[in-house]
Amino acid sequence: MLGSGPAGLALAAACAERGLDVVCVAPSPWRAWSQNFGLWSHQASLVPEDAVAGRYASPKVWLHDEAGFALPRAYLRLSTFRLHRALVARAEQAGVRFVDARVDAIEHGEVESRLRTDAAITVAAALAVDASGASTRHLARSGETVDAHQTAYGIVAEVAEHPYAPGEMSFMDFRHDPNGEPHAAPSFLYSLPLDDRHVFLEETALVQKPAMPIDALRARLHERLRAMRIDVVRVHEEERCVIPMGLGLPSKEQPLLGFGAAAAMVHPATGYQLASALKLAPSVARAIHDGLESGGPSEARRLGWEAVWPAERARLWSLYRFGMAALCSFDLERTRLFFESFFALEERDWQRYLDATASPTELAAIMGRLFCGAPLATQWRLLWHGVGSGRAELWRATRLGGFA
Ligand SMILES: Cc1cc2nc3c(=O)[nH]c(=O)nc-3n(C[C@H](O)[C@H](O)[C@H](O)COP(=O)(O)OP(=O)(O)OC[C@H]3O[C@@H](n4cnc5c(N)ncnc54)[C@H](O)[C@@H]3O)c2cc1C
Repeated sequence: MLGSGPAGLALAAACAERGLDVVCVAPSPWRAWSQNFGLWSHQASLVPEDAVAGRYASPKVWLHDEAGFALPRAYLRLSTFRLHRALVARAEQAGVRFVDARVDAIEHGEVESRLRTDAAITVAAALAVDASGASTRHLARSGETVDAHQTAYGIVAEVAEHPYAPGEMSFMDFRHDPNGEPHAAPSFLYSLPLDDRHVFLEETALVQKPAMPIDALRARLHERLRAMRIDVVRVHEEERCVIPMGLGLPSKEQPLLGFGAAAAMVHPATGYQLASALKLAPSVARAIHDGLESGGPSEARRLGWEAVWPAERARLWSLYRFGMAALCSFDLERTRLFFESFFALEERDWQRYLDATASPTELAAIMGRLFCGAPLATQWRLLWHGVGSGRAELWRATRLGGFA
């Protein structure tokens, strides 16, 4: 296993729990990650109970008006430290061995792959699995990579006071026009109060092509906080977030398996991935185990790729990538109108859109309902996109379009 992020640790643990001999190679695997993670409350069973550090009964969305509206589903803030500690403990208990090193090159032979590391150690494995994150050089992609990114700049801050009621958080706050410009590139405030005086505040550009620079997000955050009259007394932590959103799907015809962000599993319209990696890890582990038992490494790889990217999910991703490219073309005002229609959908629909739990046919129907409820200007924009640059993704989303 290359990588000890959430995806690598979850899959390594699940494989070892099936009795496989697993070596996880990653730099500083015992050091906790730095990201601040969040999840919806219905996904809570995917993480250990003590990894939940905060629960927000009223995640709020503000688009144009001052009142905003609360989403009817609770949101959870995770303790990155405790989630990491629990996954490492689970992996070690199941027998995973860790090697503190970076894999520089992989040589694939007839019967094994050899992972050469910067620590002058070589690890031989029947099957190499790349979970080394979105910037991996080891995986080949058969799908086209689009240069779209989510970027965000966040701070854990001590503030004089903040405006959030108990149980409230900002899932998306689009109220402020940067420099008074309603047609600027869109970004919003995502914020999680920690207590009366501390809050995580993050200015987020959901998905853009090219990426919104972190410095621009930092300037927007401080301008927004001034407009909201939130006085920052002290900054305890900073988070700089860059998530590639348009990675091409990996080729299934290659001598290794991929998982997590490396394998393009990041949701192309939200940037989320944690829940899907934790949920999928046991079935991918089962596929690897069964493949090794029944036909050896090549069968394990084939079944593994089928579990990571079944044709249905790949079609689903094409629909999301269509939606992602449309979002990239919206300015701030259009983005507000889009999310007004999005959250006017039934809760079940928008939640399945965010969770990626609908089938491609169901997702197409949800997108159809979203289209019908959107203002005319947004409908034109989507139609224009559908007959123009989005045509290829729509074609791939059909059964006829085929996949990697
Ligand atoms: C700041 C930030 C916040 C995010 N917040 C959320 C969130 O709230 N909810 C959500 O669902 N998603 C979130 N995401 C998106 C996504 O879930 C995370 O990026 C997640 O960490 C991806 O997990 P991963 O294990 O696939 O990859 P990574 O977390 O990137 O882990 C990659 C691992 O591979 C190792 N590695 C790298 N190169 C090598 C090499 N050559 N050899 C061996 N090991 C190597 C790294 O050290 C690391 O251990 C966030 C992303 C970022 C950047």
